[in-house]
Amino acid sequence: MDVLKWAFQQYGEQIIYACSFGAEGIVLIDLISKISTKAKVVFLDTGLHFPETYELIERVKNLYPNIQLTKVTPKWSVQEQAERVGDKLWKTDPNRCCYFRKVEPLQRTLTKYEAWISGIRKEQSLSRQKTEYINKDEKFQKIKICPLIHWTWEDVLRYIQLNHLPYNPLHDQGFPSIGCAPCTLPVESGADFRSGRWKGFAKTECGIHQNGNLVFNDSSQRKKGN
Ligand code: SF4
Repeated sequence: MDVLKWAFQQYGEQIIYACSFGAEGIVLIDLISKISTKAKVVFLDTGLHFPETYELIERVKNLYPNIQLTKVTPKWSVQEQAERVGDKLWKTDPNRCCYFRKVEPLQRTLTKYEAWISGIRKEQSLSRQKTEYINKDEKFQKIKICPLIHWTWEDVLRYIQLNHLPYNPLHDQGFPSIGCAPCTLPVESGADFRSGRWKGFAKTECGIHQNGNLVFNDSSQRKKGN
């Protein structure tokens, strides 16, 4: 809570929360609503999320009318992407798909802000172990604030239960991490939190939490003259 308070004091209107509406997202929206009456939240709407996720967003919007929620969409619809770079790109090249549908839309959004908030937790994966409360985000050249970084999954669920908050029903069906429907499977009890994501690929992150080169080498776009 102190980290969030500091973040809003420090960045005011210049901070936005990128929410995926998993369990952590619900906790953060509830905490943020107690701190700021005009907080901005963005959802990266890939057009490929589960129906349960879209339903949850509508419930949360009604529950927190002061939160300014924006859905940002990729430049291409799912159909346009299929026509330009191939059908079901997530099956052949999920990194490119995530770039088009998540990374670029977030980059576009963050150009208007100095800092962003993320609900990631250290416990979720090895790649998140070095994340701290306040991070220099080399990828987007912003400050990234991670207020839940030290929370456990049990902490998240306890907060939701104690505060009677809505959450995605898929969490009760073996989905601790919920992303796009084509790339998210349930996991066995005790398995890695994110092991149901991009099953069959050596991919563990969509790309928005990885430092590195932001410019995707999209040769197919150049071929088509776009
Ligand atoms: Fe595409 Fe899957 Fe990434 Fe969603 S999670 S943007 S469907 S590759």
